[in-house]
Amino acid sequence: MPVRISTGAVAGIAGQSVSVEVVINRGLPGFHLVGLPGAEVRESRERVLAALRHSGVRVPPGRITVNLAPAGVRKSGASFDLAIALGIVAAAEGLAVEPGAAARLRALFVGELSLFGELRPVRGVLPVLLDAAARGSRLAVVPCTQAEEARLAPGLQVVAAADLRQVLDWCRTGVEPVVSPAPPRRRSAGGPPATTEACAALAALTGHELARKAAVVAATGRHNLLLVGPPGTGKTRLARLLADLQSPPDRRDALTITRIHSAAGVPVGDGLIDRRPFRAPHHTVTRAGLVGGGAALRPGEVTLAHGGLLFLDELAEFHPSVLDVLRQPLQDGHVTVARGAGQRTFPARFQLVAATNPCRCGYHGSSTRSCRCQPQERARYLGRLSGPLLDRFDLFVEMASWRGAFADAPVAPTQGGWRVAPTPADLEAARGRLEEWRVGGGPPHSAGHDGFLDRARAMFDLSLRAVHRCRDVAATVAALDGSRAVDEVHLREALEFRHGLAVAQPDP
Ligand SMILES: [Zn+2]
Repeated sequence: MPVRISTGAVAGIAGQSVSVEVVINRGLPGFHLVGLPGAEVRESRERVLAALRHSGVRVPPGRITVNLAPAGVRKSGASFDLAIALGIVAAAEGLAVEPGAAARLRALFVGELSLFGELRPVRGVLPVLLDAAARGSRLAVVPCTQAEEARLAPGLQVVAAADLRQVLDWCRTGVEPVVSPAPPRRRSAGGPPATTEACAALAALTGHELARKAAVVAATGRHNLLLVGPPGTGKTRLARLLADLQSPPDRRDALTITRIHSAAGVPVGDGLIDRRPFRAPHHTVTRAGLVGGGAALRPGEVTLAHGGLLFLDELAEFHPSVLDVLRQPLQDGHVTVARGAGQRTFPARFQLVAATNPCRCGYHGSSTRSCRCQPQERARYLGRLSGPLLDRFDLFVEMASWRGAFADAPVAPTQGGWRVAPTPADLEAARGRLEEWRVGGGPPHSAGHDGFLDRARAMFDLSLRAVHRCRDVAATVAALDGSRAVDEVHLREALEFRHGLAVAQPDP
């Protein structure tokens, strides 16, 4: 008698429901897998047969036909193994003997099998279960190593098993498998301790007052930041702190972040990812690696950085065509990737932090080594960065040793409560003020605000986007300052950050 078992796989970052239909007919022994299986799925035949034998199941004689429905959708991944094995046993000997067994067989079964019958974790358990729950499933069987991740899907009862034997026993008897408890949680409990650590680490970055201020502004208002400086000045260290200086994502965002990581096969660990992601792809990353794509239309780095921070070190070394594809996600907060007839849209709302050497040799402006580059070479090096890309950065900071050529550069003044080494409470208060202003339709401005911006716009040839971004940064500076309104002094500071240290005061 044909049987049907529910399972699923991940497509992009969404779950895709799949039915495994198995029928065993008389005839020459054989195993036929149909329903547009990809290479990994075709290999499940060998895994499933070996796992069945190792679990003490006699593989039935005859011709086994396994259909993966819907037949029109290409299947990839190894998540169907468990359902295929179960379907074969159910079709051969029938498992619905005890009361309730028929209901248990209607559960969702997800897992890869080893040749020894052990259940292995699969990519995308969370999206698959979220999709199943949305379709009305109430019961799911998953590998025990992914039980915590699976339990994030609301409304689903999760049965965790270590191997095929346990799953078969549960189907027959309804007795839940006993699996050894998960190792203790290694993660810190959430945002506040991470923020405290980040604040302390920031305070320890002595000698970089302007860079620290820029980091605080960038973290508070989630502004994009470009750090320029020779190697060894702490650019990467500062960028890493930024993600933790921010408030942790709320539960809804955390679930989205976890779902994305699960779908991409990045280990999710033991539950909800409640810290903002930090992604730092190497400068040799491909377009598909950065924005997503490939045969299976998988999400890329910009999507893995969703809700967190994308750090591009050695920005000028990235291929210009690779950087070019960042424009859509930076503009829209999502990215669309297409391949063949397929097309998918992934979330990609991230904060961009980049670092670059000032020149090819890396030592222009260094106090410890001298630059070997010609002036034209230096101009060409940073000239690789396109204007539209640079326009997306709100804050530019040159980081150099204080005894170097930049040592005498003016440091932006410190006003009122504006602290270079803030506490988590300072940051929280500033974020609260920004949120208040946002809800109220924007912060109050000082008189002369527009006139000042007009003059600055003419003087620096600012784009409309740049003016808007200056306003936003000024609001963040004002919020950190504890000010009730955005004053000219905050706009001035925002403009200074936009133009690095090279720019004079824009006063007439
Ligand atoms: Zn150089």
